[in-house]
Amino acid sequence: MSSALAQEVQRRRTFAIISHPDAGKSTMTEALALHARMISEAGAIHGKAGRKSTVSDWMEMEKARGISVSSTALQFNYTADGDDDTPHVINLVDTPGHADFSEDTYRVLTAVDAAVMLIDAAKGLEPQTLKLFQVCRHRGIPVITVINKWDRPGQTPLELIDEITERIGLIPTPLFFPVGIAGDFRGLLDRQTGEYIHFTRTAGGAKVAPEEIMSADAALDREGDEWTTALEESELLTEMGQDHDQEMFLAGQTSPMIFASAMLNFGVRQLLETLVALAPAPAGRADVDGTMREVTDPFSAVVFKVQAGMDTSHRDRLAYMRIVSGEFERGMVVTHAQTGKPFATKYAQAVFGRDRSTVDLAYPGDVVGLVNAMALAPGDTLYIDPKVQYPPIPSFAPEHFSALRVNTADKYKQFRKAMDQLDSEGVVQVLRNDLRGDASPVLAAVGPMQFEVVTARMKSEFNVDTTIEPLGYSLARRTDEQSATELTRQRGVEVFTRTDGALLALFSDKWRLQYVEKEHPDLMLEPLVATAD
Ligand code: GDP
Repeated sequence: MSSALAQEVQRRRTFAIISHPDAGKSTMTEALALHARMISEAGAIHGKAGRKSTVSDWMEMEKARGISVSSTALQFNYTADGDDDTPHVINLVDTPGHADFSEDTYRVLTAVDAAVMLIDAAKGLEPQTLKLFQVCRHRGIPVITVINKWDRPGQTPLELIDEITERIGLIPTPLFFPVGIAGDFRGLLDRQTGEYIHFTRTAGGAKVAPEEIMSADAALDREGDEWTTALEESELLTEMGQDHDQEMFLAGQTSPMIFASAMLNFGVRQLLETLVALAPAPAGRADVDGTMREVTDPFSAVVFKVQAGMDTSHRDRLAYMRIVSGEFERGMVVTHAQTGKPFATKYAQAVFGRDRSTVDLAYPGDVVGLVNAMALAPGDTLYIDPKVQYPPIPSFAPEHFSALRVNTADKYKQFRKAMDQLDSEGVVQVLRNDLRGDASPVLAAVGPMQFEVVTARMKSEFNVDTTIEPLGYSLARRTDEQSATELTRQRGVEVFTRTDGALLALFSDKWRLQYVEKEHPDLMLEPLVATAD
């Protein structure tokens, strides 16, 4: 296929920010947009009052700039150092954050080629960051680390580096080392060139912070001890072998690190430059048989997220696909690999809230929303001949379990239909066993918000009243038929069949699990993928 397509692929970078709530993901997203000159002032999106106004302000921004923004992916051009006429295209895929942390968050990570792990300088690694990092590791996604909020008091650089190395075995290789302790952020030592990047604050951090690039001598004159300390610590890292190595980064062993303040816009340009220089461009994927589909092969895409009920006036279902290969042109008729049926893409859109803008052309790495996608589920493949089918998205280890009951018996048929629908969309995992019967399935979720989504949608889309009853289980292990018999005899353990046929044993807590494992070492009890436990 054409080299024009290859060029479109090469200039794309698709990534997600993984972080714990409050580490500064929204502020950083906004700062990145500011640096890409999408917006003229930071604060336009975020609003002074916090994140409440994010939604409407994004919409305002979309209208004002005519850019493609969706609740799922933000796309912008960025002209990096050394780019001539053609800028890079950055796709920032949003991980649903905050309260609605759920399986969706994990699935989003199947759509990206790199992740930025954003860490609060004072707090270090936090639980949600850890969980998301485990998913990145499991999927082999290279991770760039950003230590944020360096303008506020926090830990020392070496403490943070040690913490990351020791707790998750990822070796940070700082590219830009801070000059000035946390709380006194003066600039960055560029460890590759040895130069000093001095930042100047702008009022309220609303504009791109002016940078002054200085030689080491000039930096010493200006910053004195602060510069010397940065230099010494950087040399120490070099002695320990903690310099950037592209192969080790791509293999998930090391992580290029940047110190930043998203609020002051310090280190943000450096992050964009790093993404362009080091993060991988979209690559081909192996299908279920292990055959590679190259990016320049005919069109193919993977659905990674399905969203329903956004438009309350009519039942609507939106599927987001990440393009894997080929050029996407709106109107194209593609094949849905799971059913073999044609799917018309007339209504391909970039979606945000209620605002939708049409997408006419898209390339590998891009995210496109498909309207009326009733048959599509996360993990499904769409293609243009020759046929390709990508492996399903693994489901992640649930940690919350609830029984779902229908409140009015005469609605049972509707209830079943609704349950099948929500199950196929991957809203929750549905578990059943003979003891509880079909009328009372057990729902398993990564985050409890998923249960609320189920009851709300049962009501609004299917008019079925349901009740959620939390169960006293907190962990699941995969087991087999043979072990199941013994496990059902154990106290605090219950065995279920998941819709995909997998047998899951639920345990009240890890002590119960440890006890059973010790008493019955022969039983099959395998952890499910990608948990932090
Ligand atoms: P999110 O929950 O990860 O999206 O975090 P937000 O972007 O909403 O930021 C959480 C809080 O931290 C807000 O009050 C931000 O203003 C603040 N914040 C974010 N980045 C920085 C930073 O670099 N420095 C300082 N001092 N505060 C920041």
